[in-house]
Amino acid sequence: MTKRREVKNMSERSSFANREALVVIDVQNDFCPGGSLPVYDGDKVVEPLNKMIYLAARRNWPVVFSRDWHPEKTTHFDKWPIHCVAGTEGAKFHPGLKTDGRFGTRSRIFQPENIQVFSKGMGETEDAYSAFDAKNTAGLNLEDFFEKLGVEELYVGGLATDYCVKASVIDAVGKLFKTYLLIDAIAAVNVKPEDSDNAIKEMVNAGVRITTVDQVLKKYLGYK
Ligand SMILES: [Zn+2]
Repeated sequence: MTKRREVKNMSERSSFANREALVVIDVQNDFCPGGSLPVYDGDKVVEPLNKMIYLAARRNWPVVFSRDWHPEKTTHFDKWPIHCVAGTEGAKFHPGLKTDGRFGTRSRIFQPENIQVFSKGMGETEDAYSAFDAKNTAGLNLEDFFEKLGVEELYVGGLATDYCVKASVIDAVGKLFKTYLLIDAIAAVNVKPEDSDNAIKEMVNAGVRITTVDQVLKKYLGYK
């Protein structure tokens, strides 16, 4: 694995059209205010993430939306209130999230070619905090999906900082993606008040780079 990616980095990087990708973690109704496992200010991530989706549309970056997609009965609900049961209202993405990635006017449309939903936690004993445990409708996992497209750099935001975002970005670094955490597009459960800060420290120690949506927009579009 390590070797393969290193070889690609040296010899093939310039041939990749999709070096960067955006990963939007679990922005679902049950994790937002009014949901069954609400993250305080969870819906505040929608606006900055939509800006990132716009950037992805402009640059034709692949966009991945991960989601918890649990069965009605799972050992996961021994630990957490019932949430994001497949097919329910609570499992739907926040209605404000631009999941179609389509921007522009009739004459000029921007939309990423690769925009996909990845579901996780479908097993009856599965927690699946990491988006790398998720699969798309074709049964492809996230790592293989990115591998196929030649993606090497990930921009990650969503819910919740101290669980699925943390698990996903630490996995991403472990799988040798250059990984940026969008610090202003995440929100934490904070079972304990310090959980968010500790999670961010853990991610940084693992090798995740911290950035903001405005910094990324400025870098790629020249404005925010
Ligand atoms: Zn869950």
